[in-house]
Amino acid sequence: MEKIRRTTIKTLLSDPAPYIDTTVDVKGWVRTRRGNKHVQFLALNDGSTIKNLQVVLDLSKFNEEDLKPVTTGSSVHVQGRLVASQGKGQSVEVQADELEIYGTADPNTYPLQKKGHTLEFLREKAHLRPRTNTFGAVLRIRHALAYAIHKFFNDKGFYYFNTPLITASDCEGAGAQFQVTTLPLNELPLTDDGKIDYSADFFGKMASLTVSGQLEGELGATALGCIYTFGPTFRAENSNTPRHLSEFWMIEPEMAFYEIEDNMDLAEEFIKYCINYALEHCKDDIEFLAEHFDKELVERLRFVVDNDFVRLPYTEGIKILEQSGKKFEFPVYWGVDLASEHERYLVEEHFKRPVILTDYPKEIKAFYMKLNDDGKTVRAMDVLFPKIGEIIGGSQREENLVKLEERIAEQGLEGMDWYVDTRRFGTVPHSGFGLGFERLVLFVTGMQNIRDVIPFPRYPNNCEY
Ligand code: ATP
Ligand code: MN
Repeated sequence: MEKIRRTTIKTLLSDPAPYIDTTVDVKGWVRTRRGNKHVQFLALNDGSTIKNLQVVLDLSKFNEEDLKPVTTGSSVHVQGRLVASQGKGQSVEVQADELEIYGTADPNTYPLQKKGHTLEFLREKAHLRPRTNTFGAVLRIRHALAYAIHKFFNDKGFYYFNTPLITASDCEGAGAQFQVTTLPLNELPLTDDGKIDYSADFFGKMASLTVSGQLEGELGATALGCIYTFGPTFRAENSNTPRHLSEFWMIEPEMAFYEIEDNMDLAEEFIKYCINYALEHCKDDIEFLAEHFDKELVERLRFVVDNDFVRLPYTEGIKILEQSGKKFEFPVYWGVDLASEHERYLVEEHFKRPVILTDYPKEIKAFYMKLNDDGKTVRAMDVLFPKIGEIIGGSQREENLVKLEERIAEQGLEGMDWYVDTRRFGTVPHSGFGLGFERLVLFVTGMQNIRDVIPFPRYPNNCEY
């Protein structure tokens, strides 16, 4: 074939004018093939957009026998004229002059058929899952959201700060950790009193995968002012729910001189910015998902962007739940750690909009949250979303050295000196929060299960690929 610069299908479909009546070069996977004995039509997709490009094969130019392997799932290289389409359903099409087959896909064994597959089935076909319309859409939206997050913080003057994935601090208080070790598990070295001798381990002490970059993030914020992290976190909690993964990505901004109200303002502005960005830049993909999975998706996204979030103290939230007259599976009382059904009642039934719940009892929150004057509650803030429940968890941090040391002692935490030093030398009021990236993607895509918004989900008893 002639050497012509390849054009993506997205370019040709979104801005065809410069290419009309010229020879174009496209490459992609065949989604469907149909036609008659005079002409054949391929729907070609290259992943750049959810839309397919129609390729017209005139059988006076091509040998039927040569075209035999061009079936659903095969990959091809096509050159031909881009013309305004006569058929309905597309604005332009390529009238092929030449076709090269890269790879065939035997129709008898190719797992993706034209009829829809269940999402569960697709989870087992990791290599083909991204080639479906659904996951293509989800993954493009995921990308756009990741970009929007970096853009939002960069434009605000925040610095991207990388915190460690392997950590020796086991006090982040956010759930069970996966241990990292090179010790021989069937022949563990023991100390004199029969405990595992971690001094013989790779790092000379016990180490794990991080559950949150926050504590290290605070060191960044108390030097650079405003930072954010965006990286993977790992939790060995046995939560077999549609909202939990064992490996997920988290965005954790941390800001010196921010108090709880500033923190809430930032969280609300941030999440609205991301949703807006997706609405503006992922129109085709969101519309596809709305049509196939969730008719109210676009309306729900707009609603969140257009309305103020409710801000409500935990104590008030408990009163509303108690007075609701609703039969909850888990009991409601002051001091309880809210379950997803409680969070969703407040958001979906009572207020009918996102809620930022603040000032939780200190017993159910982490040691680093700033104690209120009542001595009972801490300056926590959880952002609760429709269909999701908690999407963000954050707080103003305890900047007072004495109070922080008290809370650390209460919980029997050790080895925290490196962290407490931020309060020992030039301490400042500061705040931050963590957004679970997949929960955001879940919300924006309208998917039902968090396992379907990450390319390779990890959850209990599942670590394929
Ligand atoms: P939950 O109560 O829903 O289990 P959490 O309170 O343990 O969440 P945090 O420690 O506050 O969560 O983490 C901050 C954010 O990270 C949460 O608001 C949520 O969006 C996300 N997140 C937490 N755990 C998971 C998980 N296992 N999988 C995916 N996202 C998670
Ligand atoms: Mn939380």
